[in-house]
Amino acid sequence: MEEKLPEDLANLSELDEKSLLEVLTGRFTQNLIYTYIGDILVAINPFKYLSIYEKEVSERYKCHEKKSLPPHIFAVADRAYQSMLGRLATGPKNQCIVISGESGAGKTESTKLLLRHIMELCKANSQLEQQILQVNPLLEAFGNAQTVMNDNSSRFGKYIQLRFQNSSVKGAKINEYLLEKSRVVHQDEGEQNFHIFYFMLAGISMEDKEIYGLLDPTRYRFGQEDVVQAWRVKYAEVCNAMDMVGFEEQEKVDMMTILAGILSLGNITFETTDSDALKVSEASRGWLKATAGQFGVQEEDLLKSLTCTTSVTRGEAIQRLHNQQQAEDARDSIAKVAYGRVFGWIVSKINELLAPKVDCDVELNEIGILDIFGFENFAVNRFEQLCINLANEQLQYFFNHVTWKTLSPMPPLFQDLFLTKPIGILSLLDEQSAFPQATDRDFVDKLNSKFKTAPNFEVVRNHTPLFTIVHYAGKVQYNASGFLEKNRDTIPANIRELFINSVTPLLSVLFAATISRTGTLMPRKAKVRCIYNIYIYFDIPHSLAVLMEKMFAAGPHFVRCIKPNRSKQPDQLDSKLVMDQLRYNGLMETIRIRRDGFSWRPAFKEFAERFMSLFCVVRVCLILDCVSCVDYRARICRRRYLSLLAEIWRQRQAQREREEREEEERRR
Ligand code: ADP
Ligand code: MG
Repeated sequence: MEEKLPEDLANLSELDEKSLLEVLTGRFTQNLIYTYIGDILVAINPFKYLSIYEKEVSERYKCHEKKSLPPHIFAVADRAYQSMLGRLATGPKNQCIVISGESGAGKTESTKLLLRHIMELCKANSQLEQQILQVNPLLEAFGNAQTVMNDNSSRFGKYIQLRFQNSSVKGAKINEYLLEKSRVVHQDEGEQNFHIFYFMLAGISMEDKEIYGLLDPTRYRFGQEDVVQAWRVKYAEVCNAMDMVGFEEQEKVDMMTILAGILSLGNITFETTDSDALKVSEASRGWLKATAGQFGVQEEDLLKSLTCTTSVTRGEAIQRLHNQQQAEDARDSIAKVAYGRVFGWIVSKINELLAPKVDCDVELNEIGILDIFGFENFAVNRFEQLCINLANEQLQYFFNHVTWKTLSPMPPLFQDLFLTKPIGILSLLDEQSAFPQATDRDFVDKLNSKFKTAPNFEVVRNHTPLFTIVHYAGKVQYNASGFLEKNRDTIPANIRELFINSVTPLLSVLFAATISRTGTLMPRKAKVRCIYNIYIYFDIPHSLAVLMEKMFAAGPHFVRCIKPNRSKQPDQLDSKLVMDQLRYNGLMETIRIRRDGFSWRPAFKEFAERFMSLFCVVRVCLILDCVSCVDYRARICRRRYLSLLAEIWRQRQAQREREEREEEERRR
């Protein structure tokens, strides 16, 4: 007889790290990968097929009572759906499901299962349902790659919003965050380029090969791998997904031709002549020609944009010849930019095709699913890691806010280190990025002088541009090389021009779009505030800030994915690894707080002192809440209590802003 292990850890009277781990491990060995901690679903990646996602199972998780069925990812989907329909306790109609965990923990698989089940729940009309379900294979082909951590690792973050009119789905929208463009030109050992390159090279027909000007896979530096049969099948799937979602034939041809162009471009190498001039090496002249053909540009123009930079000073065009390194950098940046644009275009095309077709006065509700990279700490951490960790810091804050009901407006790390204007890390980065002459070292020097005493910052005494941030999940040392360049994220004018003049309509449109969005010229003067460039990575109109705002206004659901071992093996659980994840997932904290009772009392006291008139109401709620937080009435009270405190907080904030304004005026 197998021991019956609790399904909801919040119900345990004794709960410490050890017992938590014991229960989770025990359940895992019985193939029970899902466990609740109150409203949070913990999911341990089984790394094997489990027969728990069949049709009969999904039938049972329709409009179910939470306690009546074992914990399941379908249950989360069901709760989100019921909440959106207002069938559960009152609350906001819009819902968001936040999935977190490190790479390979199972976030993307969970997203897909959620999506699938929600489609089941709303008995979606079959064409739209199919379109929505085909979005994932499409995005995965272009945005996922094999890494050391995960054979199908998402190299971008996404927020999928499903839009409903009453109970039926009407459309979907995707926001993508932080595509790891650098992967196009460089992959570390044991890693690969984005899947699509392999799929395409393996799956393309002889006839299409000619259309796109593709050669044998072994001929390309960016995509060298043995051709695997499975990739052929995958390629057919991608083509099918594109058809289903609604891409047109010409768009597909254009897109594949650009990808072929990126492959050819990657093969161009340079050499210096006896007279020290730079030229395309003899062997790669053919590649230059091929690239130009595939990109639909003149060969000479392409050559020029690779081998020199043109700048305009006082109305005069000045050409500076590149050295070999600069030419290689130009080549790689063209590849990255082109790939990034294609990916962005796919997403916007999907959004266009899946936009709800309803009258504008119809009220639509939303269920959003967030699947973004977990916290990262590598041997070398770059700008991308800073962005990712910053995003995670915000998500953790959101999680804390919802689960502990703490009322701190922002964790100190945020307030002081990241977002404070004008001296937060991001503002400093923007400020430095606006100086053409500034270097990454200058940026770090500025950081060091501003934050040397800040508790979450550590100066690294070294010659290279390093700095350390103490994140909620641990210390991370960042290498600032390339920060300014990446933050600027500008495309050199000559490259932009090259593409705008392309005869491939897609390329020309993609690059023209940039101009209308951010203007033809980057602001030169330091005083001109450029947009928060970091948000380019978060897609400006749907920046992380916007996302957070949305999430705070929605009914939250959390899925915490856990990776049981590093070797991607089934039936193996490394206790230390799991414990580490429970800790920095904030789950240990959640449990501690539940155990210690309500640690937000001091915060309450502080507020109460300031706002005596509200004190009594709050106290009543608080007492009721302490009686039992499972009790339904108390829950309502807690909600009221929280909204009261939120109101207090808003007032306090407004007061503070007023004071600041007055202070400012006085100074003037
Ligand atoms: P993440 O998105 O967190 O990086 P993935 O969702 O891509 O991780 O999962 C990594 C791999 O783990 C998947 O390719 C799959 O093989 C396996 N996996 C994840 N979740 C499950 C599951 N529920 N059942 C079976 N295998 C899973
Ligand atoms: Mg993923």
